[in-house]
Amino acid sequence: MIAVVGAGLMGAATAWQLARQGHEVTLIEAYDIGHQHGSSHGSSRIYRRAYADPLYVGLTGEARALWHELEDDTGATLLRLTGGLDFGAGRDPRSLYATLTESGVPSELLTAAEANGRWPQFRFSGPVLHHPDAGTVDADATVAATARRAAGLGARVLTGTRVTGADVLPDGRVSLRTDGGEEVVAETVVVAAGAWLPELADVLGVPARLPPLHVTQQQVFHFRQRDPAAAWPVFVHKEQLQIFGLPSGSDGGALPAVKVAQHDEGTPTTAGTRTGTVDPASRAKVTAWVEAVLPGLDPTPVAEASCLYTTTPDEDFVLDRVGPFVLVSPCSGHGAKFAPLVGRMTADLALGRTRAHPRFALARRRLAETPS
Ligand SMILES: Cc1cc2nc3c(=O)[nH]c(=O)nc-3n(C[C@H](O)[C@H](O)[C@H](O)COP(=O)(O)OP(=O)(O)OC[C@H]3O[C@@H](n4cnc5c(N)ncnc54)[C@H](O)[C@@H]3O)c2cc1C
Repeated sequence: MIAVVGAGLMGAATAWQLARQGHEVTLIEAYDIGHQHGSSHGSSRIYRRAYADPLYVGLTGEARALWHELEDDTGATLLRLTGGLDFGAGRDPRSLYATLTESGVPSELLTAAEANGRWPQFRFSGPVLHHPDAGTVDADATVAATARRAAGLGARVLTGTRVTGADVLPDGRVSLRTDGGEEVVAETVVVAAGAWLPELADVLGVPARLPPLHVTQQQVFHFRQRDPAAAWPVFVHKEQLQIFGLPSGSDGGALPAVKVAQHDEGTPTTAGTRTGTVDPASRAKVTAWVEAVLPGLDPTPVAEASCLYTTTPDEDFVLDRVGPFVLVSPCSGHGAKFAPLVGRMTADLALGRTRAHPRFALARRRLAETPS
């Protein structure tokens, strides 16, 4: 039996993959499915192929196929294509265009005037990269669909159950203790605990040093579209601020809205001590940015929310195995688009089919080279 601790996007996707492949699995979640205390809540996340690093360009392609497999298997609509824009000097659209072209991903590089003509809801002042294979994934619907389908395929799903300790038994299996008094004995334990991972790895006695995981509280803001019928692409802009935006989905309210947020400048915290209070300084910066760059939005937020990033020094994921434990930390603010792929990669690690990808291993060269 394989136990999966944590039913955010990554743990639920792992349980789905394991159950789909016919394995016995128990998914254990401290809160309810779809709660708002971690990193996976909300109706929208960006799916995009535009990465400066060819590794991630390739992985987005693998993930795309698995999003369709997940949609076919669950009957849920999760991925919606809108196209994606990258702009701002820090984003370097020319070099992103070269990387996508080398990777065989269709894209086009536009002048500011061309892009302003095509998307009048933006105010561009430099080159813009457009790629059609980008859009949104519904995080809430994905967590719900993967957990529900895993249960339908025979997985045991324990909610409201916090794992509080572990003992490695003489036969090598792990006995997990929970706050409900229930004991779960598993051959392998997948720890997909998001921002709780650093503390939980200690509590479980995982015999490995994790890379420094920097937990921050981030905030997102929803702005109403001036033209409800306008089609909005997802976008990433980097200059003084690192901004991302995407159609809000249901989080934006009844009328069409766009979610805009800073990728940088989160507030350092821990999963146990975060306040959930939206940072007014970030609200002011994002609102001013919307006013300057997005004439297609009314620059008064209609909704806002906070969420946790768990970031590694090199912003690569952690997906590795130590003894009976598989450690899963695919966030750094960009993990959602890979969820079904992370589920498959984690299932492969849990089943002993593969070793960690060198970029996602606990001990990797890039970590030593990156200042934390
Ligand atoms: C504001 C924001 C915007 C983002 N935007 C994007 C985007 O546009 N595109 C993109 O690709 N990615 C994006 N991401 C990143 C993405 O959402 C994360 O990579 C992903 O949600 C991480 O999921 P997770 O399952 O690792 O963590 P979580 O969702 O936090 O899940 C961990 C789970 O473990 C449970 N748990 C913890 N401890 C225990 C315990 N002891 N016992 C039982 N259960 C436990 C928790 O309750 C929680 O449910 C964004 C993240 C945030 C916060």
